[in-house]
Amino acid sequence: MFDLSGKVTLVTGASQGIGEVIATCLAQMGAQVVCASIPATEGDLQRVLAAIGEAGGKADYVLADVSNGDSVRAMVTTVVERHGALHVLVNNAGITKDRLLIQLKEEEWDAVLNINLKGAFLCTQAAARPMMKQRWGRIINIASVVGQMGNAGQANYVSSKAGLIGLTKTTARELAGRNITANAVAPGYIATPMTENLPEEVKAEFNRQIPLGRMGTPADIAAAVAFLASEEASYITGCTIPVNGGMLMP
Ligand code: NAP
Repeated sequence: MFDLSGKVTLVTGASQGIGEVIATCLAQMGAQVVCASIPATEGDLQRVLAAIGEAGGKADYVLADVSNGDSVRAMVTTVVERHGALHVLVNNAGITKDRLLIQLKEEEWDAVLNINLKGAFLCTQAAARPMMKQRWGRIINIASVVGQMGNAGQANYVSSKAGLIGLTKTTARELAGRNITANAVAPGYIATPMTENLPEEVKAEFNRQIPLGRMGTPADIAAAVAFLASEEASYITGCTIPVNGGMLMP
């Protein structure tokens, strides 16, 4: 348990899955959490807020599409106007559109890169301004084990996550002088809506590849994010923390 009291925290893609649990976890640690997602998820965001509030946490929401620069800049402006600061950014929003490389459509490549990689760039760029003024910030990118090892059928997704790890290192180098850290968390296979529709035999095969013998949970990811957001992680930057049950030991 880390003390995140007074830390204004923006989590993208917070309407379900890993983002929802990260938002809930950081609110439990005292952060003022702003949950962001696209307008179509407003009902889910309201459900997430109600649950955080019932547990005694502080949260509100903002609607934004991370792949759109105007939308992202308006989102960050709203956060700073509402709360007077932005301390922690969690770039969690992400999608998959899987297909073998030779069949992958150009629009499927663009859609995944635009949300997973360009989205993180736009959010980082917008959040860096208030963080630089504050001389304090934490940027945490949700990458993936497949960005480190490749995966058949996911050329677009893997490229976006490998790119995100590079973006993390560059952000870390550029912003270190302003006391801003940038790190990534690379989940293995995590039980969320993104993975629930996988066939049972595929899930069983995943479990065989994982030394700890099970898929991870969103809470496993949230714990790593909470650590990276904390004061205790102030000397860690440019890192990618694997949370993958031992599936890949880089
Ligand atoms: P998820 O359940 O599909 O949640 C993704 C969230 O991002 C949803 O709230 C989604 O809204 C939102 N989103 C989609 N497009 C957006 C946009 N343009 N702007 C803002 N928000 C948008 O996925 P998850 O499994 O929790 O994954 C969360 C992150 O972890 C992703 O970056 C994913 O790549 C990464 N990850 C997941 C796993 C896994 O096994 N689950 C493994 C490694 C890494 P909608 O529901 O409306 O689309």
